[in-house]
Amino acid sequence: MASGSPVKVEIISIGTELLLGQILDTNTKFLTGELATIGLDCHWHTTVGDNRARIKECVRLALERSDVVLTTGGLGPTPDDLTVECIAELLGAPMVFDEAVMADIAGKFSKRRLKMPESNRKQALRPDGAQILPNPAGTAPGIIWQPAPGALSAAGVSDPGRKRVILTFPGVPVEMVAMWKETARPFLISSFGKGVIWSCDLKHYGIGESALAEMHADLLDSANPTVAPLAGRGECRLRVTAKAESEAAARALGLPVIEKVKEKSGPLCYGVDDDTLESVVGRLLTERNLTLAVAESCTGGLVSKRLTDIAGSSRYVKLNVVAYADEAKRDLLGVHDYILKTKGAVSAECAHAMATGVRRIARADIGLSITGIAGPGGGSPEKPVGTVYMALVAGQFQTDRKLKLAADLPRAEIRHRSASEALNMVRLFLLNPQLLLA
Ligand code: AMP
Ligand code: MG
Repeated sequence: MASGSPVKVEIISIGTELLLGQILDTNTKFLTGELATIGLDCHWHTTVGDNRARIKECVRLALERSDVVLTTGGLGPTPDDLTVECIAELLGAPMVFDEAVMADIAGKFSKRRLKMPESNRKQALRPDGAQILPNPAGTAPGIIWQPAPGALSAAGVSDPGRKRVILTFPGVPVEMVAMWKETARPFLISSFGKGVIWSCDLKHYGIGESALAEMHADLLDSANPTVAPLAGRGECRLRVTAKAESEAAARALGLPVIEKVKEKSGPLCYGVDDDTLESVVGRLLTERNLTLAVAESCTGGLVSKRLTDIAGSSRYVKLNVVAYADEAKRDLLGVHDYILKTKGAVSAECAHAMATGVRRIARADIGLSITGIAGPGGGSPEKPVGTVYMALVAGQFQTDRKLKLAADLPRAEIRHRSASEALNMVRLFLLNPQLLLA
């Protein structure tokens, strides 16, 4: 790296399955996003198959034009896993057997009471001069290697005096992520870091992207932190991104802006970063010591699935019923024939009866229901595809919502958005029932 010029990072994903389109290169996506958070610019993404000559050529080119080279894939024990061998060959380094790595791999097998296959011994080989990048989640360790100038010139790389670093990761995403977090990220921050980028997503429900942008127009022009709206799947996010010398300093820049957004957005902002509507609902139900029962029709259990995706949900989810047919709504939930015949299964009245029924059967504090037309067929002029009713019943409190989603949305999207709306009803109820009556 010429002094003062920004560090250039390149990612090489290795694996024939990537070139055949059999799997998506999520490792590159992850690493690129992470690099941004530590202020390092990724200049190139390369994908190459499990081919010795081509892997070597890609690594050589990457060393020529970049300062930091990250590879993923090809660290396994099988003959098509060539990454470390190829890098060593290119740079003219002998492979050495690392006893400590071997002991670690053997230990991982015996811990799982498995006999270690002979082929795993290969994973204890590393190029002479390279450090081990430990793998806490699997057997294949990676390497961190700053090749000496002599090795770079032997590989035909120009300007060999310039510092280059190679880091190798396995293809298995959970292993790659664990190695990144535990070792690679701190290593790159201390070796190349010129500051940290810290960001926080403020998640919103019940407001569109442009309305959200208008509401926070005063913040959108700021330079550090920056504030940018992002939309998707019926939800919106405001991403607050701050740059500073350290994570603590970046966070200190970002936090006052986050507080401002939260204050102005009020209940439209349901959480941050990894929060989901279902996790927030779970937290609120737990805090208030309340239970929930759900009766679903058009969402086929999606609300229940999302609620029970949250660990610990058995504390507050009492019963989930998927009552798809009219008879099931009648026989299981006690929806009157009169309602089904005069108002139909897709109606506010049916939604109320379903929520009341499931709440009663489960003896839950809150009953929630959802019934609608997810399409693509089944619509009518009065009730087009995308018409969805939901109701929430809690003691004397009763309310409903009617959604009119675009009829040309895919079925999965109509179901997802309906489920989100139902979860959001519960969230608002738990915050303050008046919010649902407004
Ligand atoms: P490998 O380390 O090459 O043996 O890869 C092991 C497994 O990790 C592959 O079979 C894929 O399922 C997965 N994998 C490899 N490369 C990637 C990648 N770039 N993105 C996501 N998954 C990957
Ligand atoms: Mg592979």
